[in-house]
Amino acid sequence: MTWHVWQVSPFITSIFFILGVFTLYQVLYDWLKSVMHLKKINVDDDRLNAVFGVLYMLIFIFSMQSTLVGKTISWEFMNFQIIALVFCAYFLNIHMPYRIFIPIVLIYMIFNASIGYWESWCHAWTLIMCYESFNHIRRFQNDKFQFINYILVGICFGGLMWFFVKIKFNLTWATFYEEWFYLIIFEILLYSYVNMILRDSKLKLHSVEFANHDALTKIENYAVYNSKMKYLFDTSRRNNLHLSMMMFDIDHFKHVNDTYGHLAGDQVLQHVADITQTVINANDPHIKFYRTGGEEFNVVFPGYDLDATKVIVQQIFAAINNTKVNYNGTDINISISMGVSAISEADMRPNDLYSRVDDNLYHSKNNGRMQITAD
Ligand code: GH3
Ligand code: MG
Ligand code: MG
Repeated sequence: MTWHVWQVSPFITSIFFILGVFTLYQVLYDWLKSVMHLKKINVDDDRLNAVFGVLYMLIFIFSMQSTLVGKTISWEFMNFQIIALVFCAYFLNIHMPYRIFIPIVLIYMIFNASIGYWESWCHAWTLIMCYESFNHIRRFQNDKFQFINYILVGICFGGLMWFFVKIKFNLTWATFYEEWFYLIIFEILLYSYVNMILRDSKLKLHSVEFANHDALTKIENYAVYNSKMKYLFDTSRRNNLHLSMMMFDIDHFKHVNDTYGHLAGDQVLQHVADITQTVINANDPHIKFYRTGGEEFNVVFPGYDLDATKVIVQQIFAAINNTKVNYNGTDINISISMGVSAISEADMRPNDLYSRVDDNLYHSKNNGRMQITAD
C-alpha cells in the first residue's frame, strides 16, 4: 500500500494527531523532569509542567498556523487550538490570570493577520473567557460534577467561538455544526486520555513512595537512608559543612513483644516514630529520620555540629522516655538508648561515621541502657 491510497478520514487522522501531540508532551515532560532531578536542579514539578506545557502548546499552535496564515481556510486548525487552550487551562492547572493571555492573543492576531476583523476580536475575547472559565472550574472543582462542568464549559464556549468563525469566513451551518461536534468529541477524548495518563503516573508515584517508606511507621526506610546519606556525606565533605548522626534503639523490645504481643510492639514502634517526627518538625524539617532496622532508628542532621545536635537529641530522648504507650488499656513503659557523633576530617566513607555512632549506641546499651553516648 502506498501513502496516496491511505484513505483515512480527516476526523480519524485528527484524533490520532491530537493524542500524539499529548503523548509526545508527556514523554518530553517526563524526560525533562528526570534530567532536572538527576542534575539536582530544584524546580517544582507543577511549575515545570505549567511553563513547559504552555511553551510546548504555543510552539505547536504558531508553527501549525504559519502554514495557513492569510488563506481562506485559516480556521482549519481552530479545534486543535481550542484543545491546546483547554489543556493549558484545565489540565496544567496553571495559576495564570487571564490578563496575561491578552498580549499572547494580540500577538497571535497580528501574526494571523486577523486584527482588523470584529469577528476575530469577539472570538479572542471568547477564547480568553474560555481560558478563565476552565481554569476556574478546575480550581474549584467538585468531584461529583467534574466532567459535567468541564463539558458544559467546553460546549458553550466552543459553540460561541465557532459561531464567530462561521460569520467571518461565511461558513455554512453544516460546517459550523460539524466542527462544533468534532470539538466536543475532541474535548471528551482529551479528558479521558489525560486522566488515563495522570492515573498511570500517580500509580508510578505511589509505587515509588511505597518502596521508599516503611509500611508500619510511614517513615523512610534503610534504602533511602543509604542513598541520601551518601549524597549528604559527599556534599558535606566537599563543602566543609557540618553533618551529624544519631541512632537509637528501643530497650528490651523483645520483652515488649513477648509480654504484650507483636501488635503491642507494632504500636510502640509507631508511637516512637510519631514522637520523634514531631520533635524534628518542631525544630527543623531538614533533619532526616529513617527506620534502619527492626527497632532501630536513625536521625541525620545536615549542617549540625555535635553541640547543636545534642540539643535536639536530648529533646527526643526526653520525649520518648517520658511517655507510656497505652495498649488495650495497659500502659507500656519504654526507654531508648542513643549513640551520637559528627563527621570528622578522617572520615572517608559514610560508614566511618555510622560505625562511630553504632559504637556509641552499644556503649549506651552496655552501660545500663536509657542513656545517650555522644562524642
Ligand atoms: P536491647 O535492649 O539490647 O536492644 O534488647 P532488645 O530486646 O530490644 O533487642 P533484640 O535485638 O533482642 O530484639 C529486638 C526485637 O525487635 C526482636 C524482633 O522480634 C522485634 N522486632 C523487629 N521488628 C519488629 C516489628 O516490626 N514489630 C514488632 N512487634 N517487633 C519487631
Ligand atoms: Mg532493642
Ligand atoms: Mg536492635
